[in-house]
Amino acid sequence: MPASPPSLAVVNARVWTGDPARPWADAVAITGDRIAMVGSSAEVRKTTTSATTVIDARGMMVVPGFIDAHVHFLIGGFGLSSVQLRDANTRAEFVKRIAEYSKTIPRGAWITNGDWDHEQWGGELPTRDWIDSVTPNNPVWVNRLDGHTALANSAALRAAAVDASTQEVAGGTIVRDAMGAPTGILKDNAMPLVGKVVPDATPEQEDRALDAAMKFVASKGVTSVHNMGTWNDLAVFDRAHDAGRLATRIYAAVPIGTWERLADTVAARGRGDRWLRIGALKGFVDGSLGSHTAAMLEPFTDAPNDTGLFVNTPDDLYRWTSGADKAGLHLIVHAIGDRAIRTQLDIYERVERENGPRDRRFRIEHAQHIAPSDIGRFAPLGVIASMQPYHAIDDGRWAEKVIGHERGKGTYALRSLLDAGATLAFGSDWFVAPPTPLEGIYAAVTRRTLDDANPRGWYPEQKIGIEDALRGYTTGSAFASFEENDKGTLTRGKLADLVMIDRDLTAIAPETIREARIMMTVVGGQIVYRPE
Ligand SMILES: [Zn+2]
Repeated sequence: MPASPPSLAVVNARVWTGDPARPWADAVAITGDRIAMVGSSAEVRKTTTSATTVIDARGMMVVPGFIDAHVHFLIGGFGLSSVQLRDANTRAEFVKRIAEYSKTIPRGAWITNGDWDHEQWGGELPTRDWIDSVTPNNPVWVNRLDGHTALANSAALRAAAVDASTQEVAGGTIVRDAMGAPTGILKDNAMPLVGKVVPDATPEQEDRALDAAMKFVASKGVTSVHNMGTWNDLAVFDRAHDAGRLATRIYAAVPIGTWERLADTVAARGRGDRWLRIGALKGFVDGSLGSHTAAMLEPFTDAPNDTGLFVNTPDDLYRWTSGADKAGLHLIVHAIGDRAIRTQLDIYERVERENGPRDRRFRIEHAQHIAPSDIGRFAPLGVIASMQPYHAIDDGRWAEKVIGHERGKGTYALRSLLDAGATLAFGSDWFVAPPTPLEGIYAAVTRRTLDDANPRGWYPEQKIGIEDALRGYTTGSAFASFEENDKGTLTRGKLADLVMIDRDLTAIAPETIREARIMMTVVGGQIVYRPE
């Protein structure tokens, strides 16, 4: 019996606890920000008083709050109010949306974000010529949805002084026309040429973007995120935390090259609390498949002289990984191509050997195209595969064109990784994909590509079960930030972060999972979302 009466109780629910000791229950009681009891409705009702808000779930499902292990939270928040290009599926629509958006902003203001996808209209990359005539007064710098390619209009290129005479950048590409003039498309390490002249957001704009992001993810059932971001992101989170405004718990990673600064910061202020934690570093080995910048062992099927690129040298990655690991920091490294993944696994293996045993929980982000012989290396090395199932049904529309059928077998190899004993942490990579765990779960269990061309699943042997997918978004992601004692399951004493869903995901046809609706999101015992 809890010492004080519950503030909130949910009864008559199908509670999937994620706790192997008690997988199912039908009620949860919350006192303050912690779970006070998980049990039967009768047991929980006995503990309630007139001070308790009692919610009758009428048989709906309750699960631990979803933890999105990979987001770019502020970019996502800014994107919510910027031009929306993700589903622009023709060239004309792409141009029209930019034209219309430009009419809503002042002369001279930049048009950014966008999240376009040239695969939507057959694969032709856009150029500045498409949009110059409709954006004479606004610089445009809109990114592909993977963030590894962006389009500038002529005004933006002028502002950045990027022209035919601009030198190439290592680890990046300036796409040029036959005359050598930039087409407006820049990739990976070439992107800062324009990115650096985009005016910074004001603190007020940043605060608004964070609030919008928190509100949006709450409506999707997300209670915690792992942010892959910058020191400035951390400053925005600190500001919100100081003001008591955080409604999403954040594990804030900062760039790997700044590990010494992070070591100093952790020494000075510790690793944070249950709302905002630090101690993690995010690095990159390569780019993305959609931008042909993923580092592959063999050339791309549709570009036989090209094996992609490294955005950092293996020497730098080793140096940073080794130094940061010695300092007790947490390494989170993006690797998409099989060559990039192997390189980082080799570095992790070497650093562990040199630095000795420790609970380090190295992570590889995306782990998108794994060479078959590397799948079995994750578990013994204790490397977490932090993956985004939605990317599989998105990229699955065109990935075979880029890497062929055989290599497709190691693409988002969820089943093989689980069978080999690896820990999976799931996320969205928002802004790259929607921060919607129900879509990610749908993707993991069906592998039906977004174009519905693979109704039985794209490489169906890599589908996983619904409970495996739920674990990826709960216990897996909690483990991936060293927070499994506080979250990830609905167990007495853990943080009161939970989600109510309008149907039992374990009892419905998998292809209907994405029709399910979030009915309530609770963070720290507070209801942060209910549908209108
Ligand atoms: Zn990312």
